[in-house]
Amino acid sequence: MAILAICGGKKTKTKAFPTWPQWNDEDEKALIEALHSGRWARNNQKISNQGGYIEKLEERVAQIHNAKYALAVTSGTAALDIAVRAIELREGDEVIVTPYTFIASATCILNSGGVPVMADIDYETWNIDVEKLEQYITSRTKAIIVVHFGGQPTNMERLMEISKKNHLKVIEDVAHAFGARWNNKPVGTIGDIGCFSMQSSKNLTCGEGGIILTNNEDMYKKIYSLHMCGRNYNGAWYQYEYLGWNYRITEFQAAVAYSQLLRLKDMDDIRRKNAEYLTQKLNEIKGIKVVKTDSRVTNRVYHLFTFRYDSKGFNGLSRKRFIMAMNAEGIPCHEGYIHPIYKNNLFLKCKKVNYTDTYCEEAEKLCKEAIWLHQEILLGDKKDMDEIVEAIKKIKTNIKEIKR
Ligand SMILES: *Cc1c(COP(=O)(O)O)cnc(C)c1O
Repeated sequence: MAILAICGGKKTKTKAFPTWPQWNDEDEKALIEALHSGRWARNNQKISNQGGYIEKLEERVAQIHNAKYALAVTSGTAALDIAVRAIELREGDEVIVTPYTFIASATCILNSGGVPVMADIDYETWNIDVEKLEQYITSRTKAIIVVHFGGQPTNMERLMEISKKNHLKVIEDVAHAFGARWNNKPVGTIGDIGCFSMQSSKNLTCGEGGIILTNNEDMYKKIYSLHMCGRNYNGAWYQYEYLGWNYRITEFQAAVAYSQLLRLKDMDDIRRKNAEYLTQKLNEIKGIKVVKTDSRVTNRVYHLFTFRYDSKGFNGLSRKRFIMAMNAEGIPCHEGYIHPIYKNNLFLKCKKVNYTDTYCEEAEKLCKEAIWLHQEILLGDKKDMDEIVEAIKKIKTNIKEIKR
């Protein structure tokens, strides 16, 4: 009789993990209130929107981050697109970005006529390797887009030092890292512009949505204009200053996000506690190496729980088969990005730059070793975490049952 679930044995996990998104009566009340208010979107005249959920959300997000300005928009992709437009690239300007990220972190550069330059990541943190950053800087480099992957802040002190020295703008893609802090500074406010996503998988969600942070008044006015079809910040409705789009969020989205935000910190605390427990347990298992949190991170948040899988610790069992075995045991996990973003046809077919020679060694390696668990798993209880550990140990002990 087989023991492993993949071979017909009993599953480790019988009770399901928490699902996502989660909602309650407060969310419902806020949503209905937005409906009944008769004000479903941001008005053209800023002043008449006062008291709406969009404004309440922006105020609260700015306050949490100690930022001067927050602007809610339709998505994280829109936020990034606006941010890159706001730094006004000239055709062919280079922007440095990690290749281990969601596509929008780089396509936003292409959309403004810029050239994404892929810089390799750090083995331990999976973020852009700040110590290698300078080798990617040329006379055409205009900015860096930094992603705090999985909720793990990048070394922003070093990154800002390099960017200042080289007169580069810094855009933070904080889609995974709402509330995270590097050395007590909230990420998203350390660079020039920070971009959040509220897409349905994210820790703060309303289905779709994005938020942009900045401390610079002129930048804020430009960003505001760019999300409002390019309309002058202080001008009349028929006056246009920039090439902008309609990136306006609705009151329905803002109402849900605002209500969700009231519970975010409590949820982050649960995720962190579980993640720290899981980290300790999994790092004891040969062949598993959880992504490292830098000691200068003063608030780690978890959008993803990630680790490297080394088949040598599992009698040569491939990552693919290991994941299949885990899924069969009732533990949802997957391999994440199967290649760095520059391996997508989008880049390989790019006429402007030849990406066929681009090779980031660490990112390539990580794409072959990584395993991701999603944030909602971390909303479970201690027993849920123990069952993850148990499933891995069970696979290890009975590995002979599975064909490599
Ligand atoms: C989700 C995500 C985005 C884009 O956000 P959307 O709201 O889905 O457009 C950008 N960057 C990263 C790293 C993301 O995970």
